Amino acid sequence: MHTFKFTRPADSSAAVAAAAQAKTAQQGADARFIAGGTTLLDLMKLNVETPARILDINRLPLDKIEAAPDGGLKIGATVRNSDLAHHPTVQRDYAVLSQALLSGASAQLRNMATTAGNLLQRTRCMYFRDTAMPCNKRAPGTGCAAITGSNRMLAVLGTSEQCIATNPSDMCVAMAALEATIHVQGARAARAIPFSDLHLLPGNTPNRETLLEPGDLITHVTLPPPVAGSRQVYLKLRDRASYEFALASAAVIVTVAGGKVTRARVALGGVGTKPWRSPEAEAALVGQDASAASFRKAAEAAMRDAKPQSENGFKIELAKRCLAHALQTAVTSSLAGS
Ligand SMILES: Cc1cc2nc3c(=O)[nH]c(=O)nc-3n(C[C@H](O)[C@H](O)[C@H](O)COP(=O)(O)OP(=O)(O)OC[C@H]3O[C@@H](n4cnc5c(N)ncnc54)[C@H](O)[C@@H]3O)c2cc1C
Ligand code: SF4
Repeated sequence: MHTFKFTRPADSSAAVAAAAQAKTAQQGADARFIAGGTTLLDLMKLNVETPARILDINRLPLDKIEAAPDGGLKIGATVRNSDLAHHPTVQRDYAVLSQALLSGASAQLRNMATTAGNLLQRTRCMYFRDTAMPCNKRAPGTGCAAITGSNRMLAVLGTSEQCIATNPSDMCVAMAALEATIHVQGARAARAIPFSDLHLLPGNTPNRETLLEPGDLITHVTLPPPVAGSRQVYLKLRDRASYEFALASAAVIVTVAGGKVTRARVALGGVGTKPWRSPEAEAALVGQDASAASFRKAAEAAMRDAKPQSENGFKIELAKRCLAHALQTAVTSSLAGS
């Protein structure tokens, strides 16, 4: 049976110092922070994660949602997903984030899951979670069972010969579109990581999923000030209406003036190996009519480099329709946040 030592560090510095003893980075490391536990404990029960040391960060003062000095928002690492989704400022100014959070998991899970834990949740690829199967992400060099196996849920963007696993987070898709910044206290210094740099493409090292180094503690996330007049929508398509991961999802933040799109931020979920910001779709939208034809063109641009596997080719058209529909909803619906 797997045994581990459980401690509650007195403050962030003690937590960082203890975690910095790990030989590898956060994910798969032998010393691990635990927040809500909804990813880590599941994977420990499956023997996919076997940390020797667990550091409980729930008592650290990282659970506040506050106005940032620049007019944006500061979200503590241990803020629960449900508290973030229902916060009045988030619902008013960052509606895409609230919608994405509420589309994820179940009410019970959202009550436990935290901001940082959600950022670092791991793929739901079935072979990753089964220690009897080859998986380059879990056991580097063993191969990828999904490429010749069951890959219906897996990625079509950002894949490599080594791994085609999807990043499963909904919250991250909204944060990609919102251009969040991740703040980290490390063993040497504190630093700020632009959201688009946090997650790595699998390439030849799918076991390395983020930029984080041993000891790195995510302390908070900041969002830039809201963009006046923007419309925001998160649309998630999945096999059943709740308690299911995305087959395809889209987070859109658009501003329209005089019938033309003047600003667009677009990210996709369920189709990429990381939360997938699409500068191609954004460029295709800006300056164009806010029309169904433009939205379809933007969706084509977003999926231009998609590479289907044996079972997931349907995701390419699904993602295009998801994005086009999200854009249409954003510009026409009174439900879209502004
Ligand atoms: C049945 C089920 C269904 C789900 N459905 C969805 C869904 O539809 N959409 C979706 O987006 N998600 C879904 N999830 C995933 C869920 O959102 C994540 O499990 C959750 O967000 C993880 O947060 P946590 O606080 O519980 O993380 P934990 O399990 O505590 O930690 C996860 C990882 O983050 C690290 N970590 C935690 N905090 C920090 C920190 N401050 N600094 C550095 N590292 C840290 C841990 O060491 C660990 O590696 C589902 C989960 C389950 C079990
Ligand atoms: S897709 Fe990635 S996570 Fe899934 S089996 Fe292949 S290497 Fe492992």
